[in-house]
Amino acid sequence: MPDTNDDPSRFRSILTEWRHDLHRHPELGFDVARTAGFVADSLRDFGLSVQEGIGGGVVGVLRRGNGPSIGLRADMDALAIQEENTFGHASTMPGRMHACGHDGHTAMLLGAAKRLSEEGGFDGEIVFIFQPAEEHGQGAKAMMADGLFDRYPVDAVYALHNMPSIPAGHVAVRPGPIMACEDNFEIVIQGKGGHAALPHMTVDPIVVGSEIVLSLQTLASRHLDPLEPCVLSVTDFHVDATRNVIPDKVVLRGDVRAFTPRQQSAIEDGMRRIAEGVAAAHGASADVIYTHEFAATINDAAAAEQVAATASRVLGPDRVDKDCRPVMASEDFGFMLERKPGCYFLLGNGGTGPGGCGLHSPNYDFNDDILTIGADLWVQLVRDCLPAEG
Ligand SMILES: [Zn+2]
Ligand SMILES: [Zn+2]
Repeated sequence: MPDTNDDPSRFRSILTEWRHDLHRHPELGFDVARTAGFVADSLRDFGLSVQEGIGGGVVGVLRRGNGPSIGLRADMDALAIQEENTFGHASTMPGRMHACGHDGHTAMLLGAAKRLSEEGGFDGEIVFIFQPAEEHGQGAKAMMADGLFDRYPVDAVYALHNMPSIPAGHVAVRPGPIMACEDNFEIVIQGKGGHAALPHMTVDPIVVGSEIVLSLQTLASRHLDPLEPCVLSVTDFHVDATRNVIPDKVVLRGDVRAFTPRQQSAIEDGMRRIAEGVAAAHGASADVIYTHEFAATINDAAAAEQVAATASRVLGPDRVDKDCRPVMASEDFGFMLERKPGCYFLLGNGGTGPGGCGLHSPNYDFNDDILTIGADLWVQLVRDCLPAEG
């Protein structure tokens, strides 16, 4: 029986109860059996057709009539962080916590599934996608590799993330790139070690490595279009050091963020040219390993416009930023947007009070005040994207 449509406070307390339970029991990466089990049981309770174990995730399908199909995605995984909060719903698992608010994302999407299953009124199919392993960029790829969009060929796919720097219950979205890609690199510089007092008998990889670190900074500042932002950070300069020995080898590691595949390949090509060229100039060699960890999250223009229109209807236009600044962090929903048109948007978690600290902080907590707002946004988005029943 519908028990939430006419009673907002009851709906809120159900979502809060789910969210707190998920928060108490955080799980990591692909090891999300308890969370996925809870999601699958709940979706079955609401009368959805449920498929478990798709790339480690759960899919619930709600169909009415023969209209188009829309995918809505939430992430279920937590982080390997020791929670410092002491409230009643703090993590019961040492060294793990929901510090990114994925507990809230899961509760909001389940809330939307509950309401839409009770209320109906649409003509089409809603595919509720609950993915594991967002934090390390593997879950979306695993679900797609396991046939997510072959089994459920949605016309468009949507996701949201809570954002502590945005006022609670406000939405930020933009057409085009909204989150950056993440690439990682490792450069192994091979020189020739020897006595610190006899440098002429060696090829010093520390001097070569230092020059490479500085030269890499010219990629963003001198080689790429300044109107297309990107970041290249060398985050590790590793040497097996002894104070009076020039080492054989230096390993540099680091991280690249950008918004277009063109920038990614320009940075990779430039990095190989600089590392190999600088090393060769000094009689050393450099081997570059460059990997793509997260795709940039690039919104379809029409889908972003739809999200802005839906959010304006639910929250009022004053609470919707339709052209927000993109974020330099990364999100593995970008891989889904490489396959399907759609939109990723941000829901303000509040800058002060509950949830006032940053994502991935040991004091983070999802703001329960936005649980029903997120569920309302999902419900309205479905109603705006699918034709009305009958
Ligand atoms: Zn995160
Ligand atoms: Zn997250």
